[in-house]
Amino acid sequence: MAAARHVKCRMRVVTTLLLVGTAALALADPFRPSISDQIKLGKEAAEQVRKKEKVLPDTDGRVKELRRLGKMLVDLIPAKEKKDRPFVYSFDVVESKEVNAFALPGGPIFFYTGLLDKLKNEDEVVGILGHEMTHIRNQHWASAYADNMKRQLGIVAILTIVKANNDIFNMAGAADTVFGSLPYSRKHESEADTVGFDLMVQAGYNPQGMADVFTMLGKVSKGGGPEFLNTHPDSANRVKAIEKRIKDSGKTFPPERPRKPEATGVTWKKGWATLGGKG
Ligand SMILES: [Zn+2]
Repeated sequence: MAAARHVKCRMRVVTTLLLVGTAALALADPFRPSISDQIKLGKEAAEQVRKKEKVLPDTDGRVKELRRLGKMLVDLIPAKEKKDRPFVYSFDVVESKEVNAFALPGGPIFFYTGLLDKLKNEDEVVGILGHEMTHIRNQHWASAYADNMKRQLGIVAILTIVKANNDIFNMAGAADTVFGSLPYSRKHESEADTVGFDLMVQAGYNPQGMADVFTMLGKVSKGGGPEFLNTHPDSANRVKAIEKRIKDSGKTFPPERPRKPEATGVTWKKGWATLGGKG
C-alpha cells in the first residue's frame, strides 16, 4: 500500500513537472522566433530572392497591381494587431513560368508571373494574397519552426534547455528553414484559407475567386503539377471547404471584378476582358 502510494506520488510530481514545462512553453516559447527575428529573417530571405530571381521592376503594371491590392488588405488589418505584430509587408513579382506564390516570415510576399498570368480577376489575386498574408499574420512559419525543434529534441531535453536558457532561438539554424523546408500543417493551411476568406470579404471581394484559383490549380496539376500545389495540396477539398463557407454565410457577394490595366508599364495579355479601359 505504501509502495503504491509512493508510486502515485511520484507520478504526480512528474505530471506537475510536465504541466509546468508545457505552461512555460505556452507563455513564452523560447523556440519560437520573435516578431523582430521573423522580420529580420524574412528581410534577408527576400534579399536572396531579389538577387537570385528576375524580380520585376516597380514600374511594371503587374507589380503595381499586386501592391495596390496588397496594400488594400494590409490597411484592413486591425490597429492593435499592427501594433503587436508590426510586420513589414512587401509585394513583388518574379518573372518565371512557375505557377507559384509564397510568403516569407515577417512580411515579404512573392508571386510568380506563371501564377499571376493565370488569374482571371482581382478576386482571384486577392484570394491568394489573403491566404499568403495569413501565413505571415499568424506566424505560421515561426510555429512550424518551434514545433520542429521540439519534435527533434523531445520533451525531457526541452525542459532541461528551457530551464537553462530563456532564448535558445538560433538565427543561423532558422535561416535554412525559411524556404519551404518546413511545410505548413493542414491546420495552418486551412486557417490561411479561412482568415484569407474573411479578409477578402471584408475588402468587398467575392470569395468564389479563392475557390476558383484552387479549381484552376487542380486542373493545371494534371499536366505535371504547379509548384503551388506542392506546398498547398488537396485542392479539391479546399474548394469544397471554401464553397461550403460561402453557402453557410448565407450572403450574396458582389460580382467578381475584372483585372484592370495600371497607369503605366503594362503589357496586358490579349483576351483579358476589360482591356478597353472600362474596368
Ligand atoms: Zn498556404
